[in-house]
Amino acid sequence: MKSLHKVLTAAGLLLALPAHALTIEFDYTYDTRGFFTDLTTGTPMTERRALLEQAASFYSGFTDALTAITPQAGDSWSVQITHPSLGGPLITLSNIDIAADTLRIYVGGSNSAPGVLGFANTGFNLTASGSDTFIDAVTTRGQENTIGSTATDYGVWGGMIWFNAANDWYFGSDTSGLTAGHPDFLTTATHELGHILGYGEADSWLAQIDSGYFTGAASVAAYGSAVPLDQYGSHWANGTMSSYQGVAQETLMDPSTTPGTRELPTLLDYAAFKDIGWQVNVTTVPEPDTYALLLTGLALIGLSARRRAV
Ligand SMILES: [Zn+2]
Repeated sequence: MKSLHKVLTAAGLLLALPAHALTIEFDYTYDTRGFFTDLTTGTPMTERRALLEQAASFYSGFTDALTAITPQAGDSWSVQITHPSLGGPLITLSNIDIAADTLRIYVGGSNSAPGVLGFANTGFNLTASGSDTFIDAVTTRGQENTIGSTATDYGVWGGMIWFNAANDWYFGSDTSGLTAGHPDFLTTATHELGHILGYGEADSWLAQIDSGYFTGAASVAAYGSAVPLDQYGSHWANGTMSSYQGVAQETLMDPSTTPGTRELPTLLDYAAFKDIGWQVNVTTVPEPDTYALLLTGLALIGLSARRRAV
């Protein structure tokens, strides 16, 4: 809160904005089971969609320059994603355009077994052909050293998120109506975005795991030692604590969130994204409310079952 006040009252605050801000575009093309769209009327469910934008705002302070994916004559690319409303079948996306500093995320939901809240992935069978520049844009977004066991950075086109419609979700932007037993949709959305941003997935993440502990420098600094991971190396160990806006909180990227509670990205979560290669100043972590306020005016602006997270 202190830094929020400071930013809003500082003269020339616009000059302090980063040159690049990460934009996450949500695509509802495959929302065919009506999780974000009233299928009877075709009307968007604006409350739910706004929560996705709110989740994205937690990452809008990442200042990486991501190359646009814009196929020219002779260029082509494709990737397959899990259908975000059906879970199983793969959809092939071909030659889609993605703007600079932007990720495209296909979202949907359907009923499944209780317990799981959602899952995310960045797709399968990515192919790209054409100019070297184009292939680099598709595979790394212009980031350096993103592939292999010594990777230090990460670049991705986007991905997909499926939400389990069987849950009795809390769809509120603040916690005033969040009551026991209801999983918090904002928490799950923010967590799943974290996986698309490379948490538990990126080569640069995997490269920094040693015997079940994450050894990235920023994370070690934030936690005080190497950070214990879950058995799959895809989350912090369950119950790992850090702080959100100066208050102790269970980490966003551990595998579980108690229904009826909200977890947002802590200092340790942001440290992990820095270690994955994102440009984020961990010591002055972007307070999402601040960014939302500042960026709205510029039009720049944004499992987890976490019980059985994926
Ligand atoms: Zn997860």
